[in-house]
Amino acid sequence: MPVETLKNAFVDELKDLLSAEKQITEALPKMAQKATSKGLKKAFEDHLEETQNHIERLEKAFESIDLKATSKKCEAMEGLLKEGKHVIEETDDAETLDAFMIAAAQKVEHYEIASYGTVCAWAECLGYKDAKRLLAETLQEEKDADSRLSDLSYAGINKSAMAA
Ligand code: FE
Ligand code: FE
Ligand code: ZN
Repeated sequence: MPVETLKNAFVDELKDLLSAEKQITEALPKMAQKATSKGLKKAFEDHLEETQNHIERLEKAFESIDLKATSKKCEAMEGLLKEGKHVIEETDDAETLDAFMIAAAQKVEHYEIASYGTVCAWAECLGYKDAKRLLAETLQEEKDADSRLSDLSYAGINKSAMAA
């Protein structure tokens, strides 16, 4: 594959991720507000802060290859958030709502893990060391956010939903 082609793909994926992260910063405060479990509320609030750093790192990744940070609408994230929103609106039991929000949030994390995994691999191929370091840092935080949600789920939110 010609380097130029891979570079274009890399930049395109960064634009997609910037849009995805921006959409997530709008969704997370609403999810934190709706969460009943204190642990879940805290997980959403903490990940909102991290997501703001993810945006900064993406901007730095653009800068590291002498490009201005721009975004291109991530339709997948729009769809994931829309689906999550519908499910949440249709649920009136508080504990079930928490369980559904964990499910929706984990789908978001898995999308991000896939995308950051891809851009890390591409940055490595292209020899973009700074970009690779920045993106790998975010990839790790997305993975940690995902396991934290799994822990919360196994720790009892699903059980409370079953008791309800
Ligand atoms: Fe993120
Ligand atoms: Fe996307
Ligand atoms: Zn995330």
